[in-house]
Amino acid sequence: MSTPWKTRLQILDLEADARIEVECKTCGFFRYEEAAHWQQDSQSRQLFLDEFEAGLKCHKWGCGKPVRIALPSNVETEGFQGGLA
Ligand SMILES: [Zn+2]
Repeated sequence: MSTPWKTRLQILDLEADARIEVECKTCGFFRYEEAAHWQQDSQSRQLFLDEFEAGLKCHKWGCGKPVRIALPSNVETEGFQGGLA
């Protein structure tokens, strides 16, 4: 399944209260990242979500493998099709 939203959305496009779901591809360790936290960083906020995903690693001790990110369904593709209101 393609996920083009990851290449179109930047951290700064997310709602300030959005939580990004982060799941390890290897061990399945699951956590959330707060969008607001990353939006405060002038460099991180400009990352597209696929770049953001590539820069994250599993937080489980001894793992540190690549992760997959997802957004809560109401934040995902829909609202961004037509550009900004
Ligand atoms: Zn892991």
